[in-house]
Amino acid sequence: MFFIDSHCHLHDSRIISDIPGIEDRARIANVQYMVSCATMENNFELTAQLSKDFSSILPCFGIHPWFVDNISDQWKERLEHYLLAYSSGIGETGLDFTDKTSDRDLQIKVFEHHLGLAMELERPINIHIRKAWDTFIHILKKMGKLKVSGLIHSYSGSADMISLFETYGLYISFSGSVTNPNAKKVVNALKRASKERFVLETDTPDIYPYLSEPQVSQLNEPKNLPAIAQIASTRIGMEFEEFSRQAYDNSLNLFHSILPGKKDNQWTS
Ligand SMILES: [Zn+2]
Repeated sequence: MFFIDSHCHLHDSRIISDIPGIEDRARIANVQYMVSCATMENNFELTAQLSKDFSSILPCFGIHPWFVDNISDQWKERLEHYLLAYSSGIGETGLDFTDKTSDRDLQIKVFEHHLGLAMELERPINIHIRKAWDTFIHILKKMGKLKVSGLIHSYSGSADMISLFETYGLYISFSGSVTNPNAKKVVNALKRASKERFVLETDTPDIYPYLSEPQVSQLNEPKNLPAIAQIASTRIGMEFEEFSRQAYDNSLNLFHSILPGKKDNQWTS
């Protein structure tokens, strides 16, 4: 049985010096691929380099909504350069209206550009949405069904919206937040997601899960994904192996166009 971490940040300065160890521990834990998302122009190169050094690291390039204020005049060209140079997905991109002083119009403009690129280049897209659900739904309705696959990372919306997102072709991704004993809303959302539409992620090095034997550092890493799957499956009353296999198959479908050697290289699970 194998796992795919559908959203993490291996370029992060808190963990970058330990990537060989992190990759090793992920492999031992049967985490086959890690989808590592850049967040701004100045970590595109590092994300690209990681994917060259480790075939288990699948890169995504994008501007995170927290960092839209830092974009350069050439951000569109830089983004397109990396997307064309590497077998890669798009992201992390999206909308985050948690900070009321953020430039929402700029976030929308940057996010819509990423969505347009995903359609044009037919790449999977890794989306971050926090407290911006109405605007996101408005954009989806305007653009129509995505011709490419995409995921909403560490889903924090209501269970009621899930079927709508699924009709737009999106997958719903669940992180260690589902292991929080008080996370009733997230557990309800996981229950509501279709069997063919949920995937799992760590958001490494953040969202450290509630583990029975937590690490002192509290820096999350992909090797924790099976433990997240174990707790999540128990919380929705599904058998661990079936749950994990389904999440794995869903991630393969979602990211099949950027897998090394595409689906031919699928491991037997
Ligand atoms: Zn993230």
